Amino acid sequence: MKDQYGRDIDYLRISLTDRCNLRCKYCMPDGICQTAHSEILTYEEILTVCQAALQLGISHFKVTGGEPFVRKNAISFLRDLKELAPSCTVTLTTNGTLLKPYIKELRELGIDGINISLDAAQEERFFAITGSHAFASVLESIQLCAACGIRTKINAVLLPGNEDQLLPLARLAEEMPVDVRLIELMPIGEGAALSVFSPDKARKILLQKYPDLSPVPAEERRGYGPAHYEQSEKLLGRIGWIDAISHQFCTSCNRIRLTSTGLLKPCLCYGNGVDLRAILRKKNPGNPNLIWDELLLALSDGIFQKPRAHCFQEHDAITEHRKMAEIGG
Ligand code: SAM
Ligand code: SF4
Repeated sequence: MKDQYGRDIDYLRISLTDRCNLRCKYCMPDGICQTAHSEILTYEEILTVCQAALQLGISHFKVTGGEPFVRKNAISFLRDLKELAPSCTVTLTTNGTLLKPYIKELRELGIDGINISLDAAQEERFFAITGSHAFASVLESIQLCAACGIRTKINAVLLPGNEDQLLPLARLAEEMPVDVRLIELMPIGEGAALSVFSPDKARKILLQKYPDLSPVPAEERRGYGPAHYEQSEKLLGRIGWIDAISHQFCTSCNRIRLTSTGLLKPCLCYGNGVDLRAILRKKNPGNPNLIWDELLLALSDGIFQKPRAHCFQEHDAITEHRKMAEIGG
């Protein structure tokens, strides 16, 4: 459906959990106070929201976290979601550390793409950023996903002090048919306290090695979100840019978010949203249709009210104070 500014909202980002097994320094370096299980939407409740979203024209579902695979039976949820919405895309964003045992099943259930976060191309730097020794396993999962034909993308946040990792990360797109997407650090959670490594500076570094870097043809669709992509003859995959601040893409933003506690978030930088959990947990045995109608109305209201633009340039105007792991990215 369209929001109040006429944008087509067709993309729902679903966070399965706020828990994570990594401690990325820009996201949740000290861990988070874990939300009680009872506050987290059950898979059944999430699927009910997805069913309502389908009715309102959502056709792309992104499953994320925290880390989606720290939640038990995430793979069954993905299968159920794909069955519920066979003609929609269902994609996944993961840190890749727990992914390997599920790759075959993901391919069989028809996953439409996997984004794997990898901020460094060296083990020690990976450890310094994430607090984890899983570098080799993440890299292996990226290779396995790409090799079995899953559309695979690497997500790397542009971090100050990490400039030397840029070319080694881009090199992965020379070796495998994967897109390497560079994400501008957003002032959310711990990210607010860090300085930036700008996409402009990153592009200048890339041009030294890939002087023919240029936008992909308009008809080449690489995804369903705001990233824009560039190509080079030397690369099998593409370089993607998610530069929400320096290249504001709010006029074409097509997404809404569902947190693991059931808050429908119309925009990343504002803390408000619609409490869908309260509706889902209302008891109305006499007339279940009432709850369904209320859910549809709340969802369409949330979509319609989506703000015109984010306010990341004015730090004081940001009202979202949760960590990115609690929101889902
Ligand atoms: N744990 C999974 C992962 O890391 O891919 C999924 C959730 S994570 C919150 C989703 C994405 O958000 C990751 O690619 C992560 O790098 C990115 N992210 C986290 N904090 C960020 C920030 N402050 N600015 C930009 N991206 C951020
Ligand atoms: Fe976990 Fe992803 Fe946040 Fe890193 S970015 S701490 S992997 S949720």
